[in-house]
Amino acid sequence: MSITTDPSRDLLADNDDLASQTSTHVNMLSHTQSPNPHHHHKRTRDAASLSTSSTSDNPAHSYIQFNTPLQSTKISIFSTLASALANASIPPDSISNTIHFCAFPSTRIIDEKLAFITILDPTLTPTIVSIIRSTFDLSLPTPIDSLPTPPSHSDVDTTNDPDPNSQFPRNCRIISCPFYNGGTNIFSHDPTGMAMAQTHGHHLHLELLTSLPPTTLNAIGWTCCCSTCPHIFLSPTDLRAHQSNCTLRISTNTPTLDPTTLPHWTPLFSICPDSRKTELTTIIRTSPESTPTSLFPLISQWFMESKPDHQPATPFDHHEL
Ligand SMILES: [Zn+2]
Ligand SMILES: [Zn+2]
Repeated sequence: MSITTDPSRDLLADNDDLASQTSTHVNMLSHTQSPNPHHHHKRTRDAASLSTSSTSDNPAHSYIQFNTPLQSTKISIFSTLASALANASIPPDSISNTIHFCAFPSTRIIDEKLAFITILDPTLTPTIVSIIRSTFDLSLPTPIDSLPTPPSHSDVDTTNDPDPNSQFPRNCRIISCPFYNGGTNIFSHDPTGMAMAQTHGHHLHLELLTSLPPTTLNAIGWTCCCSTCPHIFLSPTDLRAHQSNCTLRISTNTPTLDPTTLPHWTPLFSICPDSRKTELTTIIRTSPESTPTSLFPLISQWFMESKPDHQPATPFDHHEL
């Protein structure tokens, strides 16, 4: 059977000249990619038209490499990519839900990193490359045949820092990373160098670092917030700043306190009905964000309910309002 543009004329009637130029490709691809092109024609065409420069002569690749801002996360990449794939009628299970990140072997390209995704349906690789190219600006996606081996625990160099005066490891401690630099220093011995080393770990190796046993993590200069919060820091200043605001850490520690003994809660306990003091204590312990001010309306309500005869008085009706 011959492939003509005629059957797709009606599907493309709402489009411009570009559509008619690409309609042959669309027709071919919609027959091969979509079981029901009449239901998916618009989306299939959009996806297919992105890949018209690809030819079927290319071998099927199973991985795509592209660059991305250093600070981009797996979640942000996947949520953006998932909606772009959905708009092109690409099934979500065409890609795996894993992303590997690698550093550029460059001290000048430090605000970008390489991302690697796995294509589970290699026939879609050229289309997905095109979608990544149009979705992530200047990402330069490229099909590749294999993934770089992700680092494992055995790739972590826990030997002593080469410079005993260093306040933090001044190279990446993951041997397979370009910033391991053969075990010699590469980050400057100042706050800028420490920030750079910490950012490097956060955005390139977070999964591996947070999976390390605490002793190994500490041996390479990192400290975890606490047993319930997985955030890790190289900088002691950043660690303290995080800990002072960390809800997980604070809520973990709060049960050891007895709120009834803290002076700033005393006024609230003084108006709280005796029958509900246990409930108030529970609220304070389990809601670290609560304050005497935020809980006042509730406790005031309890007070009113317990004193029906006082209506319309308020617990503070002797105060000036
Ligand atoms: Zn590294
Ligand atoms: Zn924390």
